[in-house]
Amino acid sequence: MRVNTRFAPSPTGWLHIGGVRTALYSWLYARKNNGKFFLRIDDTDTSRSTDEFKDSIISALNQLGLKHDNQITYQSQRFSHYIDKVEELLNKDLAYYDKVEKNEKTRETDLALVYNNRLNKEGHVIRFRNQRENMIRIIDSVHGEINFDPKVFFDVVILRSNGVPTYNLTSVVDDIDMGITHLIRGDDHLSNLPVQVNLFNSFEADVPIFCHLPMIHGIDGKRLSKRHGAVDINYFLREGYRVDALINYLVKTGWSHGDKEIFSKKELLELFDLDRITKSAATFDIDKLNWLNQHYIKNDDIDNVAEQILPYLQDQNLPIEACNDDYLKNILLLGIEREFSLKNIASSITYFYQDEIDYDTNIIAKYDKAQTIKILKDIVTKFFTIDFSDKPSISACVKSSCEDLKLKFKDIGPLIRFATTGKLNAPSIDDLCFLLGKKRVVERISRFLEIYK
Ligand code: GLU
Repeated sequence: MRVNTRFAPSPTGWLHIGGVRTALYSWLYARKNNGKFFLRIDDTDTSRSTDEFKDSIISALNQLGLKHDNQITYQSQRFSHYIDKVEELLNKDLAYYDKVEKNEKTRETDLALVYNNRLNKEGHVIRFRNQRENMIRIIDSVHGEINFDPKVFFDVVILRSNGVPTYNLTSVVDDIDMGITHLIRGDDHLSNLPVQVNLFNSFEADVPIFCHLPMIHGIDGKRLSKRHGAVDINYFLREGYRVDALINYLVKTGWSHGDKEIFSKKELLELFDLDRITKSAATFDIDKLNWLNQHYIKNDDIDNVAEQILPYLQDQNLPIEACNDDYLKNILLLGIEREFSLKNIASSITYFYQDEIDYDTNIIAKYDKAQTIKILKDIVTKFFTIDFSDKPSISACVKSSCEDLKLKFKDIGPLIRFATTGKLNAPSIDDLCFLLGKKRVVERISRFLEIYK
């Protein structure tokens, strides 16, 4: 079976995660069938399209590994071809000029000339002569049989009075030229279907198999938008969501394979199919995405996780170069269980790198100040005499401090932890001090004593 799919974003905004899911399903279906996945940029709306949006869409798709075949098609570079196709319809009497009121200022009848072309006639649009005789019957891969009554058909504008061809025309012309066999997109485009099918027929072209994906909703049941929080894929990529987690999450938002939750790309390429796409709208569940992201981080090789966390540490201008490669891996080995994103993990371990810790002494307000100073002076003196070459020597040192001061570990441990990290929740003292090393530990406790006195 020949399979050609496409993703056709308009660069008039950031790439929405719903759009990523459309691209993902199109990519998967093409790859799975040894077909082609094309990328088309629908940038005919020159007033709203920007290079920034276009570049960010392309870059997000690349980061997600949704590589397209062939060159990217830019609709803005194909205006003259669309004019030829409009002319073809005019010649077949399948299109006609329609006068627009001079004072009428809608998107379709915008009078300021944008694209000067041979068909353009001042104060006129060109409409497609939509057939009104026959029902349109479509078998959509998701929605099944859909019938459109000719009563709902109307003569859409295909060339605006500003000379710019409209989406329904350009999309069908390109889908024909690109040989699209399976047209996968959001079901917000179902309303365009009757006119597009009639356009395919008017150009005597094969009508692709349609697959209209139910929308993704927020938890309030409304279409997912900025009101629900971040919906731009770049936000998720920036905030430390992994590509495998995002792909796994989005594929499951509208498709399932039994109870299976975790899918590698390889498994998806075997299992994904259009007939298991759910008909009802899916709900975007950030907790589920967080859970998946954490799952992928926890189950990955520590070298990979370290590599992925590094850029987030670099963003915080920490003196990372001063530490050897194993330092980060050893930090991560102490446990990253509680954090769900790469960025959060990076934020939770910055104290390992900081030259100077910011102390919020309210955190240790319940500890007696004089006693705290006494304990830390004792331990720093003892730490100074050992070489930190192993963990047991560090533990023994803390133990001897407990004995000398006649205190329990719970009276001393939190204070060492606070003086060395600025937190009370940190790894165990021997792990922490061993990893930080003698120089940092002694310097940090001494500096804290200076500040706290
Ligand atoms: N540029 C259109 C959009 O972003 C494409 C719709 C389609 O896939 O036909 O909505």
